[in-house]
Amino acid sequence: MKTSEKDLEGNKPGWHDLPRGGLILEPGSAARYKTGDWRTLRPVRDAEKCRNCMLCWIYCPDGAIIVEDGKVVGIDLDHCKGCGICARECPPKAGAIAMVAESELREKDASAKAE
Ligand code: SF4
Ligand code: SF4
Repeated sequence: MKTSEKDLEGNKPGWHDLPRGGLILEPGSAARYKTGDWRTLRPVRDAEKCRNCMLCWIYCPDGAIIVEDGKVVGIDLDHCKGCGICARECPPKAGAIAMVAESELREKDASAKAE
């Protein structure tokens, strides 16, 4: 079965629609899903401390570091799974990425919206 679009329409496929063994039959299909949904820690980058050394971009296993014109411009939170590799590889002297609890950030977002 070609990776179904049913999920995106709100209709989840039945078990008989899924490929045996959960095999991924189409390359790049994760780009269509928000695989960052289950993240518990979020990388927060301080743009002023960032040296644009690109180590986070090289090491991110999910290709979630967004680079434009040779500079880091953000993090794709729809696909970042919160592994923390970027924060670990960011040079200690820069210390530009901190991993922050997703629950804490969501609470802040919610209270900012309520104000
Ligand atoms: S936390 Fe992991 S997945 Fe997210 S941007 Fe950093 S290295 Fe990539
Ligand atoms: S590893 Fe740190 S200093 Fe280097 S580009 Fe990423 S955030 Fe910036």
